[in-house]
Amino acid sequence: MRGQGRQHGLGYLTAVVATAAVVLIRRFLLADILEPDAPLYLFLFVVTAAAWFGGLKAGLLATALSTLAGTYYFIARDGWRIADGDGLRIGIFVVSGAAISCFAEAMYRSWDRADRQREALRITLSSIGDAVIATDADGRVTSLNPVAAALTGWTRDEAMGRPLEDVFRIVNEESRLPVENPVKKVLAEGRIVGLANHTLLIAKDGKELPIDDSAAPIEDAEGAIRGVVLIFRDMTERRRAERTRLRLAAIVESSDDAIIGKDMDGIIHSWNRGAERLYGYTAKEVIGKPVSLLMPPDHPDEFPSIMERLKRGERVDHYETTRVRKDGQRFDVSLSISPIKDDGGRVIGASAIARDITERKRLYQQLLEADRRKDEFLATLAHELRNPLAPIRNALQILRLASDNKATVEQVRTIMERQLQQMVRLIDDLMDVSRITRRKLQLRKERVDLATVVRNAVETSRPLIETAGHELTVTLLMESIHVEADEARLAQILSNLLNNAAKYTERGGHIWLTVEAESEGGQPSREVLIRVKDTGIGIPADQLPHIFEMFRQVDYSLERSQGGLGIGLTLVKWLTEMHGGTVEVHSDGPNKGSEFIVRLPIVTEQPTQQPSSSGDGECKVAAGPCKVLIVEDSEDTATSMRTILLMMGHDVRIAHDGIQAVEAAGSYLPDVVLLDLSLPKLSGYEVARQIRQQMWGKNMKLVALTGWGQEEDKRRSQQAGFDQHVTKPLEPAALEELLRKLCPPSA
Ligand code: ADP
Repeated sequence: MRGQGRQHGLGYLTAVVATAAVVLIRRFLLADILEPDAPLYLFLFVVTAAAWFGGLKAGLLATALSTLAGTYYFIARDGWRIADGDGLRIGIFVVSGAAISCFAEAMYRSWDRADRQREALRITLSSIGDAVIATDADGRVTSLNPVAAALTGWTRDEAMGRPLEDVFRIVNEESRLPVENPVKKVLAEGRIVGLANHTLLIAKDGKELPIDDSAAPIEDAEGAIRGVVLIFRDMTERRRAERTRLRLAAIVESSDDAIIGKDMDGIIHSWNRGAERLYGYTAKEVIGKPVSLLMPPDHPDEFPSIMERLKRGERVDHYETTRVRKDGQRFDVSLSISPIKDDGGRVIGASAIARDITERKRLYQQLLEADRRKDEFLATLAHELRNPLAPIRNALQILRLASDNKATVEQVRTIMERQLQQMVRLIDDLMDVSRITRRKLQLRKERVDLATVVRNAVETSRPLIETAGHELTVTLLMESIHVEADEARLAQILSNLLNNAAKYTERGGHIWLTVEAESEGGQPSREVLIRVKDTGIGIPADQLPHIFEMFRQVDYSLERSQGGLGIGLTLVKWLTEMHGGTVEVHSDGPNKGSEFIVRLPIVTEQPTQQPSSSGDGECKVAAGPCKVLIVEDSEDTATSMRTILLMMGHDVRIAHDGIQAVEAAGSYLPDVVLLDLSLPKLSGYEVARQIRQQMWGKNMKLVALTGWGQEEDKRRSQQAGFDQHVTKPLEPAALEELLRKLCPPSA
């Protein structure tokens, strides 16, 4: 009856059939056995059976039928006549039947209520988002909701009655040791317990998932523990979200940029490490304070206008403005501010990323400045290269018109020489700068006597100094000072300084070149100071720190240009540093003169004995007339060289490409071949190689003429068979000197 619920039909049927059966049994089977004065009590079974199956109504029907049938067959006589005492008997039966029916009905109702409650509980458990497992007091599973079934991998039927440890296997995430069964703990302690953190549930298929749970005792009315209910949930998503949150927090925290959160009233509620670094306030100092604390007071409109845009849900991107640090210092920032919205899309605050752009702005200004200087340099370069052309052109015109006037020719020649020298100097400086910046310049350092270097430098600069009418005072030390230097480069440093002194001093000034040795406490001095001082236009104090920068000129105006590109002092500095020295500048300001001081380390050890050179006397011997083959693709260069060589008394042929060169060398058999390296058809190296392969070419003097004078270039030309490596342009004097060496008079 319990399992199927109330069955009205069966109850009614039982009422009818059982009543009939009892009538028959009583009349025919038990008539002699049963007492005649207890005619109805067998019918109580009928009522009970009908009420058991069908409840109140079936019970009452059975009571009615039993009363009628019992009365008719076993109590009444002569139809429906009833004796006095029988009425009471019938009444008691009816009351008893009704009572049994009511009792059965009450039972049914109570069972129905319990069923409904159980069903409601089942539905509730099934609908719960968390997993729920209930056990009895022995820890055996009595219920398992669908979420628990999904997480554990056990179906309800499989799990029912099993020990909880089978269905709910848990281990510690780190140690992987089994975690104490919460049910046991609840049973032992009789209170709600929660799982330790980092618990992993191992599902039936071995899959592992992080869970969070709690277990509570199920107590009856008397407080006795009847079982345990265990509630747990899958933490995978939450863990992932937590990890993402932590990662984001770490990114925010470690960002170099300041990241600041504020509400719509501008009150700061978050402040990362970058913000601490940038603004100088700790989080504790600013959280809860208005963001206007960071704004300069002279930007009053900034905050309302930013907030207005944020309220409209707009972002503020790369907004460049000024902010104030805790110490009151202002700095440039680029701000990107985004609105923070709640779930309903309402703007509830903003997050601002602030980046210090002071350095970027400074670099940008530097770039602009460098760009401006480059443009000025190009203008100056064009001007400086064109400058000498006008006098040279004029001189040529004069030569054409007055070639027979010796005095005029001499004057014109001097002009041309001077202008050419100026151009050569400019181009040489440019080439040097380019070589140094490409790290191509190598110094040929040796132990040199400083006095000799000074003398050479003075000789180079003397024409300029004299033309400007300056007085030059050179003071050397009594003892000779040696430095480890490339003689030519050191002379270049000093003549650059002397030239500048001459250029930037009004006519008739005074220039001093003084060599001093600084001694410390009686010790032999380790450093030599070379001072170049003038009474010239001086240098403004604000320019002093920049005067050695490339293209830097105090007065850029072309009208006031003194013939320079602003690279002379850069070269002085670089070359001095390449010699292990330093250079500094002093000036008391405009028109107070300037002083440049070069410091160089002194070489103290004794010189190693040098083999004696060929000596002056020999140098002075003129070169014997010899046969020279010029190989040069530039017609003008070749012709001008030939003219000079003819004037020196030599015999000359010209070839314009590599193939011609080899042929001419074979037919003309020159003493010396002046061979340009970059030639059409066959390179200079190849020409040299081919000549050397011939019997007639074995002793021919081969001279490489090139724009490149690096050690590497020299090594290459030597390998190709050259005797000499000479850098272009070759001055007539140097050409004469070369031929003197290569073809002495005996040749
Ligand atoms: P340039 O002379 O070609 O302009 P430099 O690099 O030699 O370039 O010099 C840079 C600038 O330094 C010059 O343009 C000039 O303004 C300043 N300067 C150099 N030497 C002196 C000096 N002796 N007196 C005054 N100003 C000088």
